[in-house]
Amino acid sequence: MSHRSRILSSLLAAFGGLVPAVASAAEPAVKRVALVFDDGPRPADAEPLLALLAKEKVHATFSLVGDRVNENPETAKVVAAAGHEIVNHSQTHAHPRDLDDAALDREVAGAQQRIRAVVVAGPHWYWPPYLEVDDRVCAAAAHAQLAVYTPRHLVVSMDYDTKVLAAEILRRATTDVRDGSVILFHEWRTETREQLPAILAELRRQNGVFLTFSELFASLTASDSASTSSGPAQASVPAGGEPLIAGDAGLPATRTADNGNGTFTNPLFYDEFSDPDLIRVGEDYYLTGTTMHVMPGLPVLHSRDLVNWRLLGYAFDRLDLGPEFRLEDGKEIYGQGVWAPCLRYHNGTFHIFTNINRHATHDHRQVRRHGRGVAFLQNRRPILHHQRVVYGPHAHGRCPRRHGFFACKQAPT
Ligand SMILES: [Zn+2]
Repeated sequence: MSHRSRILSSLLAAFGGLVPAVASAAEPAVKRVALVFDDGPRPADAEPLLALLAKEKVHATFSLVGDRVNENPETAKVVAAAGHEIVNHSQTHAHPRDLDDAALDREVAGAQQRIRAVVVAGPHWYWPPYLEVDDRVCAAAAHAQLAVYTPRHLVVSMDYDTKVLAAEILRRATTDVRDGSVILFHEWRTETREQLPAILAELRRQNGVFLTFSELFASLTASDSASTSSGPAQASVPAGGEPLIAGDAGLPATRTADNGNGTFTNPLFYDEFSDPDLIRVGEDYYLTGTTMHVMPGLPVLHSRDLVNWRLLGYAFDRLDLGPEFRLEDGKEIYGQGVWAPCLRYHNGTFHIFTNINRHATHDHRQVRRHGRGVAFLQNRRPILHHQRVVYGPHAHGRCPRRHGFFACKQAPT
């Protein structure tokens, strides 16, 4: 198979095909898109590209190759300092499918180590070369505490093929762009830079707003959650024009304990978090606590310094395990419900294990997102006694087979 057709077949396999342009009857008011520039950093390519993006006030995603970060660490720093998101694009850009498991792990973990050595906020996503995604690639990413970024919809500019002319790059990059699209470019392609002002102008004409991978992921997840929990999708971009990020949808800034001079004043906040459980994941702290009968429940807060906390959202909007949860038949759960949650992070996934009084223990799984917080998947499920999970000190729920929770250490059956 030729190099080009191999790339294309990988893309097709990964993302279900390149859908031909179709005129949409209901064009969304805003299309949230992420531009990704692969294969850097090289100063001769990155510097003019960064200048263009700065002039256009656009933040993009740069998928960097570990070996090139090694060669050009200063360029990687400049990319990060300009506010672009850096993602892991492997150590040597080898085909993931040509590597055995150990080599695949080394490709991902090696690049992660190199990039983190020069960029303080390390990558949160793996973006595999040739976009070859399968279970082994996902596992290698998870070993490095990364998730594989999976675009909701992919637009391929084909700029990796030098036979594709500049005008064709422009056409491809601006055709069939949807809300949630990732548009694939390469840092090294001169014609892409030449066309970039025209590409951005056309995308803006189509109501495009430009987000990084993490911002796009969070924004799409926030609107999904809004549309599943409260009927029709809510506007994801307020009138001010700035896209809503999941982690920013929380409490208004009314009071801060931070005195701004390196000291703080107690209390940290005027909210009650009974049975707080707090964990550290890398440089980030996360906190949840008891909410009993209150819905939404299980708030998750985020901090980088343990003083300034931000509400990211809730693990669930509604809990309905019977008429008492709906105040029907004269029943109620006042003072019952969710007690003493246990927050854990394992292999790229956040879990909140919590007792729900009289209803066993539940696992509210979350997926990881960029350093600004977590996105909520709303996939609560009861924990079965034989599931191999990390039990924490607060997870004092009831085992359906009446083993004490901590006694449930049987092998999966
Ligand atoms: Zn690449």
